[in-house]
Amino acid sequence: QLIERAQYLLSAHNARQLPEDGGYEVAFAGRSNAGKSSALNALTRQNSLARVSKTPGRTQQLVYFQVQPERYLVDLPGYGYAKVPQDLQAHWQAFIDKYFRTREALKGLVVVMDIRHPLKDYDKQMLGYAVERGLPAHALLTKGDKLGRGQQMQSLQKVRKELSGLWADSVTVQVYSSESRQGVDELRGIVGGWLGL
Ligand code: GDP
Repeated sequence: QLIERAQYLLSAHNARQLPEDGGYEVAFAGRSNAGKSSALNALTRQNSLARVSKTPGRTQQLVYFQVQPERYLVDLPGYGYAKVPQDLQAHWQAFIDKYFRTREALKGLVVVMDIRHPLKDYDKQMLGYAVERGLPAHALLTKGDKLGRGQQMQSLQKVRKELSGLWADSVTVQVYSSESRQGVDELRGIVGGWLGL
C-alpha cells in the first residue's frame, strides 16, 4: 500500500510555505482529541507519524506528509482548544479560507469526529468549505469501539440524515475506530482514491 510510505515533509503557516500547487492532496480536520492523529497513524500504519503535528507551537500550521512526489496528506490543526490571540486568529482564518477556496491540489476533505459527539458547528463549517467548492468530503465517525454495533448504526444513520439534509449526497460517512481498526480499509480506499493512487 502506497499510503504507508507517508513521511513528514513540511509545516506551513502561510501560503508561501505550501508545496507547489500541482499535485494531489487530502486534508484531515477535526476537533482536538477527536482522534485525528490516531487515524492518520492507523491509515499509514505508522505509530508516530502524526506526532509532529502535536508539537506545541505547531497549532496553527498545515502539516504535510508526502506519500510520493505530489501526493500529500495534510493535517489541519485541531480546533476547539485554547484561544489564540486575535490577530493570529485572523491571519489563520484568512489562510485557511484561502487554502480551501483556491488550492487546486486539494482533492478531498476528511473530517474526524468522535462518534459520540458528531457534527459540532465547526465540523459543519469545515464540511461546508469543501462542499461549496464541489470537493468530496468524508465524515469519519471515530472511536466506534466506544459504542455497541446497534448504537454505532444509530449514530451513522442520524449523521447521514443530517448531512444529506444539508448537502444532498456530497458527504459520505463511515463508522471507524483506530483502536479496533474497524473501517481502516474503507478509509484507505477513499483517501487512496482521492490521491489517485
Ligand atoms: P487528535 O487530537 O484528534 O489528534 O486525537 P488523538 O488521535 O491524539 O486521540 C485523542 C485521544 O483519543 C487519545 O487518548 C487516543 O488514544 C484516543 N483515541 C483515538 N482514537 C481512538 C479510537 O478509535 N478509540 C478509542 N477508544 N480511543 C481513541
